[in-house]
Amino acid sequence: MNRKNILFFSLLIFLINCEEKSKLELSQNKIIEYKVDCLFCKIPQNKETIIYAKFEHCFVIKDIKPVSPGHVLVIPYKHYDNWLVTPEHVQIGIVRAINEIKKLLDAEYHPDGYNIGINCGPLAGQTVMHLHVHVMPRYKGDNMTLKQVYSNSAKQ
Ligand code: AMP
Ligand code: ZN
Repeated sequence: MNRKNILFFSLLIFLINCEEKSKLELSQNKIIEYKVDCLFCKIPQNKETIIYAKFEHCFVIKDIKPVSPGHVLVIPYKHYDNWLVTPEHVQIGIVRAINEIKKLLDAEYHPDGYNIGINCGPLAGQTVMHLHVHVMPRYKGDNMTLKQVYSNSAKQ
C-alpha cells in the first residue's frame, strides 16, 4: 500500500469513529446531540420508556430499580459525563426541575423526606456515564441509613 492509500484509509477510519461516537438528530424540532453507545442519550428517542416529566434542559424517568417508591432520575437531554463537567446553565435547569419534580412526587407519593444524590465517576458508584440526579423519596419506617440508600442505588 502506498502512502496515499494509507492516508486515505486512516482518514476513513477516523471519520467512521466520529460517526459512531456522536450523532445529531432532529427531534421535536430540537437538534439533539447524543452518544450512540449511551443508554440515557437514547431514552428521548426510545418510545418504550415513559418520561415522567420534561423540562427545558432535562427530562425525568422513574428508576428501573427504585431504592424507594417514587425514585426518579433527572437527566439532561445532552450528554455530559457527570455533574462536575456540566455547564452551569444546565445545572441550574436541573435544580429547577428537581424543585418541580418534588411537587409532583409529594402529590403522588406523600413521602416524609428525600435524598437527592449524584454519583460522579465509577469510583463514586456511577454506573451510567451520562449525568443523572437521583431523587429518592423517603418514608417513615423505611429504616435505611444513607449508606444503605447509596449502596442500593449503586447495586443496579
Ligand atoms: P448510578 O449508579 O448513579 O449511575 O445510577 C444509575 C441508575 O440508573 C440506577 O439506579 C439504575 O437502576 C438506573 N437505570 C439503569 N438503566 C435504566 C433504565 N433503562 N431506565 C431507568 N433507570 C435505569
Ligand atoms: Zn449520554
